[in-house]
Order: sequence, then structure tokens, then C-alpha cells
Amino acid sequence: MFIMSNSIPFCKEVDSAFFKIVDRLAPDVWSEADVDFSNVRLSAGNAADYGRDRASYKNGIVSFPTSNRHSCFVEKSGEYVPRVSVDDACGVLWHELGHHVIAESKNVPWSAIRAGQSTHSEPGWCWVVGTAWKHFHPNWEGSPEIMAQMYLESRKGVGVPSFAKVLSSFHGPGRPPEIKLCTMLSRSCDYCGKEFYPERKTAKFCSNKCRVAQHRAK
Ligand SMILES: [Zn+2]
Ligand SMILES: [Zn+2]
Repeated sequence: MFIMSNSIPFCKEVDSAFFKIVDRLAPDVWSEADVDFSNVRLSAGNAADYGRDRASYKNGIVSFPTSNRHSCFVEKSGEYVPRVSVDDACGVLWHELGHHVIAESKNVPWSAIRAGQSTHSEPGWCWVVGTAWKHFHPNWEGSPEIMAQMYLESRKGVGVPSFAKVLSSFHGPGRPPEIKLCTMLSRSCDYCGKEFYPERKTAKFCSNKCRVAQHRAK
């Protein structure tokens, strides 16, 4: 990784945190994808085409705009310092590196995953997010395939309404899954057989009606 020749450098803490992520952590987390991270470049500044997002990724370059109210960095004493925190900026970097993985993978381990078609729902993105969560939260019971499945379910309008949002807002290891996928996998009702999304892990019936009906039947 290297930082593009800006007249203004990142402050020291950001610099070392970013180098650690790009050179060591990300290649480890996504090793299966076989991606070259050595060509990643980072850039920050007020160039007009940086847009209004927190950051963007294109052709190996992660760009951080510094002029909008969502920006990760502000200029202070001749350096770019985090507007919120180093962790916040690192989270955004993780997200953008996910796009690098999808763009540069030589191994494409997500080829069998069936998911959506837009940037933050495509098979590659489900894999990138699922793999990273699994790496940093070994007890998480999900998988890239489950994430993709949940995304498709959310498109059908059944349950998991926030899932697409969770996928698109993936911000690295600092933010574990906000939804408990394990409790949201569908199962069939013990009484009527209908598929439903249990709110609790132990739920057996799709509705109160079925729970009571089963109780009466006994
Ligand atoms: Zn993105
Ligand atoms: Zn039922």
C-alpha cells in the first residue's frame, strides 16, 4: 500500500493503522480470494470528483473526501486527522477494501453464491462481509451463503427487512453483525407447517393461533 502524493499527509495514528490493515490484516482475512493488496493506494482531499460519500474505491485507489459533513478526515495543523476516531476511519477503509477484493480476486471463492445484482448485495459482497465477520467473530453462526440467502429473502419481502442495509453498511471488525442471523433463519410451524421467521431461537409456531391450536389438540 502507499499513500498518493498529497501535499497533506495522514496523521501518524491513521498512517500506522491503515498500513497494518492493508499490508497485514486484510490479506489474512480474505486470503482465500488471493488478492494483491500491495497495489492499493490511498488518497484524501477535496478533489471535486470524490463525491459526497465517506470514501470510494476505483481501480485500486481508495479515496477519502475531506470536505463534506460525512467525511472521515478533517485538516488540522497540516495533517488529515480523523473527524470521529481512528476506528471510524478504519471501518470505512475495511468497507472500501472489500470492493478491492471483489475487483481483484484471482480465486473468486464466491462463484457458487447466488445473491443480488447490485454492488452491496452481489455474491462477492456477501462473501466479503460474511468472511470478515466470521474471522473477527468466530462465534457468529452465519456464513456468506446464509447472508446471500437472507438478502434474497429480504427481496421477497419476507422477514429480515434490515438485512440489505446491514450488508451495505459493513464496516469491518469493529461492528459485529447487528442482526442475529441464527435466530432469523426460517423454519416451519409445528402446527400448520407454514414457513416463518422465528423471533426467538426456540419458537415452534408461526403464530399464537397455531400455538394454542396445538395445545388444544393434545
Ligand atoms: Zn461500498
Ligand atoms: Zn402455524
